[in-house]
Amino acid sequence: MPLDEYNKLRDFSKSPEPKGSVKPHAGNIFVVHEHDARHLHYDLRLEMGGVLRSWAVPKEPPVKEGEKRLAIQTEDHPLEYADFEGTIPEGMYGAGAVRIWDKGEFILESEKDNELLFELRGKKLTGRYAMIKTRFKGKDSWLFFKRK
Ligand code: MN
Repeated sequence: MPLDEYNKLRDFSKSPEPKGSVKPHAGNIFVVHEHDARHLHYDLRLEMGGVLRSWAVPKEPPVKEGEKRLAIQTEDHPLEYADFEGTIPEGMYGAGAVRIWDKGEFILESEKDNELLFELRGKKLTGRYAMIKTRFKGKDSWLFFKRK
């Protein structure tokens, strides 16, 4: 099931994160969380197939053409996570403060196993983007960048 890994990694009696479930919904949300964990990073989440497909981006997401960012795909998150802000307690998976860095509309243009083309309409991220699978850092690594 799509959220099994998400649920398995968390103890909802201790973490304020939403438990959530898969929602059949033709979605169009994107959100970027700034996550002040052991290493500050950004989590890009795109609503696809009733969940938020998620990537951890070690550096600030690209706002200009020509900036390429490594993005490591992580477990799918429930749609409720799009509104989540809070602090995950010490000792928990992903411990640290989570804040919404940007959020808006996500328009999927095309989807292949190794390539997503989409438009983002947020406050900071706006325009046409691509997510392309790469072998640079293992099987979950992608390149995230802004297109012309
Ligand atoms: Mn994270």
